[in-house]
Amino acid sequence: MRMTREEILSSLDTALAEKQFVIYIQPQFNHATKQLVGGEALVRWIHPEHGMQSPVDFIPVFEDSGLIPKLDLYVFERVCEYQRKCLDEDSYTFPLSFNVSRKDLLLPDYIDSMEEIRKAYDVPVEYLRAEITESSAVMGGSEHAVEIINRFHELGYMVEMDDFGCGYSSLNALKDLEVDILKLDIKFLRGHVGGRGGIIISSVINMAKWLNTPVIAEGVETFEQADYMLSIGCEIIQGYCYSKPLPADEYHKLAVESNYMPIQKTSKFIDSL
Ligand code: C2E
Ligand code: MG
Ligand code: MG
Ligand code: MG
Repeated sequence: MRMTREEILSSLDTALAEKQFVIYIQPQFNHATKQLVGGEALVRWIHPEHGMQSPVDFIPVFEDSGLIPKLDLYVFERVCEYQRKCLDEDSYTFPLSFNVSRKDLLLPDYIDSMEEIRKAYDVPVEYLRAEITESSAVMGGSEHAVEIINRFHELGYMVEMDDFGCGYSSLNALKDLEVDILKLDIKFLRGHVGGRGGIIISSVINMAKWLNTPVIAEGVETFEQADYMLSIGCEIIQGYCYSKPLPADEYHKLAVESNYMPIQKTSKFIDSL
């Protein structure tokens, strides 16, 4: 059952204290080799009375009200806790992406707080990838965004630009911000792969190759779409065709059984020039 804005806002502290928020993890695959390349942590709210709540409904409410950093740090802590557990069990060591809201990045000490958590769990930074959205990147002015990305890079984090192509100034963001991975939501292909959408997507993939930046295609629902993405040079797929976001223990099972391959930065396109 959907909660009202008031219910959402008034329940945050109890929900955090009672650990009602959990992470689901959506695997990312290299479609060319069928190998796992990592996963994205996505928050779910298991409300004791209202049932499972979608982040689409509650994240914007926490963003508007300024409460989002509390939740995002909590989620980041769960991600570190999960990675620590895997490292302790020696079961596997794949990187996980986590979402950082634009409002988080306006807090001057947000990244310091993240670092405190990461150090407390003793998780090496290469197991963590920060996802920032294109709109958050340009929002505080691109100078602020460059500073944030530099800060993450100095600390050793990979930075992904999420929802690339959905904002107002994708080309500017791409020009100014040296992110490590672009995440392209292919929703706007809306079922058909040809046409104007296809031309734009394949051009973005070519641009990314010139910039030596790997692309993850998100929202890929069918293997037909995944094949198409591969045919235009985008190997990495995150979408329902492979898997929906999974409870962490199910993801863990899948990860342990999978053949891991890191995302490759070197571009064949560039090498051939
Ligand atoms: P996002 O970061 O762009 O995450 C990808 C969303 O696309 C996820 O939705 C995922 O379930 C969905 N998705 C992946 N593949 C497919 C597909 O093939 N088809 C369709 N229809 N959808 C697909 P989800 O988990 O509902 O999250 C929605 C958004 O909520 C996220 O978009 C992100 O912006 C936000 N979010 C989720 N967790 C967090 C969090 O911990 N912190 C913050 N700040 N935002 C979060
Ligand atoms: Mg994301
Ligand atoms: Mg996305
Ligand atoms: Mg999105």
